[in-house]
Amino acid sequence: MSLKDSHPRSVPEDTARIAKAIFNKGHRYLLLRDTFGDFFDSDDFRTLFHVEGRPAVDPAQLALITLVQFAENLSDERAADAVRARIDLKYLLALPLDHPGFDASVLSEFRTRLMNGHGEQLLFERLLERFRAQQLLRARGRQRTDSTHVLAAVRALNRVSLVSETFRHALNVLAIAAPDWLVEHTQKEWVQRYASHFDLQVEVAEGWQTRREALLVQVGADGHQLLTDVLAQDAPPWLREVPAISVLWKVWLQNFTPTEAGRLRWRTGDEIPPSADFVSSPYDVDARYSKKRSTSWVGYKVHLTEMCDDDLPLLITNVETSPATTQDVDVLEDVHDHLAARVLLPESHLVNLGYLSTGLLVSEQKAHQLKLIGPARSDERWQARAGKGCAAEHFKIDWEAQTLTCPAGQVSASWTDALDARQRAVVKIKFSSTQCKNCALKVDCTTAARRTVTIQEKERHLAVLAWRSWAQTQEFAAL
Ligand code: SF4
Repeated sequence: MSLKDSHPRSVPEDTARIAKAIFNKGHRYLLLRDTFGDFFDSDDFRTLFHVEGRPAVDPAQLALITLVQFAENLSDERAADAVRARIDLKYLLALPLDHPGFDASVLSEFRTRLMNGHGEQLLFERLLERFRAQQLLRARGRQRTDSTHVLAAVRALNRVSLVSETFRHALNVLAIAAPDWLVEHTQKEWVQRYASHFDLQVEVAEGWQTRREALLVQVGADGHQLLTDVLAQDAPPWLREVPAISVLWKVWLQNFTPTEAGRLRWRTGDEIPPSADFVSSPYDVDARYSKKRSTSWVGYKVHLTEMCDDDLPLLITNVETSPATTQDVDVLEDVHDHLAARVLLPESHLVNLGYLSTGLLVSEQKAHQLKLIGPARSDERWQARAGKGCAAEHFKIDWEAQTLTCPAGQVSASWTDALDARQRAVVKIKFSSTQCKNCALKVDCTTAARRTVTIQEKERHLAVLAWRSWAQTQEFAAL
């Protein structure tokens, strides 16, 4: 499909007159058209189309309808009907009253074209440009970020259904990619066994444990047989490159393990890979299982950043998508890098505790001169929770002399630079057994022979203290 030359559109006179008369108290789509004109330009999408071919429906209009679909939760069919029938949409799209609209299928074709051409960000970036031109965006203001779950467009499968569905998927793909080879290597029972989805609810209804174990042994052996045939010397080498075969291989490795007798055994407990690595569906191998409080899902996480200055609209400035298992704290640097690339970094960035670490407090201040604002992470060690005056904060640090004075007035015996489990620089400060042995505070201070206090290196330690103390202020509470 090709693209026609683009021209700025103006709302046809009849459309404008009737729309203004009907919506004489104003309407959001009329306001959008009057403020922003053509949101998108057909030239924005030129690289996604061929130079020759049947002229496509104007992608600038389809992009705008895509936004309307999102705002109103409209299916493609309903969106196409709405464009045909609604005067507010005719005004927004600058269409004449008698415009017949378009077929609903062009919307999904447009989305596919965007995805195939890696143009997913295009709509968002163009919107930001329009908002910036209207001075609705502000760099160095206040923004906030939070995440929510995104469901993968796949059925959530338990592990038994997962392996059987993965095998079924591999057979279906081979039936198209290598039908003759598959006929030669199919066992006739497979047709019956994998003709439809496994439904474990049905499978487990009676005598489920025995049936389940027999089923797993059978499915494991079937997958093993198919993989063996694919890897055989006389098999076409390209079969190994078929994605459904790679997925089958991975799912089998993750769910079965060989026994000494040369058979496959179902993995259990710690033998199962962690969620971050575990394939949850053969139809979306990047989707991951995750759980946050009472919500569990298979899919992804989206981290949305929006402006929250009091005098401007709440406009989204960045969208970051991560696997469902990614910790919030691990995406914040990417969020800031992408905001910096758009010259949209805030001065204050409000986040919840999941996004915060003392390392980020320091590094992001240095890298982007921005202040992270969020609840302070409290000291969770038992001495702090006991509240008897023996938490790390009750020890006085002398950074110059590299000593710590404890609540009993003793000065530490050693000071050693080290790395913690996450490879962050820390200092381990120890008192001697002689000092602690007969101390009246020992019961509240340590259960070992002597107290060891671990603190972060100076810059991060001071940042934590400042953060905790600021989190007690009225200014913080107001924010
Ligand atoms: S137990 Fe050791 S470190 Fe703790 S207060 Fe007593 S002397 Fe100080």
